[in-house]
Amino acid sequence: MKNSVIVDEEVCKGCGLCAFTCPKKIMELDRSRLNGKGYHAAVCTDLGQCIACAMCAVICPDSAITVTKEG
Ligand code: SF4
Ligand code: SF4
Repeated sequence: MKNSVIVDEEVCKGCGLCAFTCPKKIMELDRSRLNGKGYHAAVCTDLGQCIACAMCAVICPDSAITVTKEG
């Protein structure tokens, strides 16, 4: 199994902290759509580069991100 970064879109409030903190700069707010609360939810744009450090998950004030390491 590969690394996975799952964002609970309905919990995310689009604060951008995960994007700010990701060392690989692969977390972004999806500006093309809105979640049920009217926010642009975060999304991992390049899982292949993700090192599963979980910094995004740790910094998220709403615990909206679940990171699973490969294997
Ligand atoms: S686990 Fe680390 S590398 Fe992967 S998206 Fe989150 S902060 Fe970035
Ligand atoms: S830190 Fe959490 S709430 Fe903020 S944009 Fe990222 S996933 Fe959404």
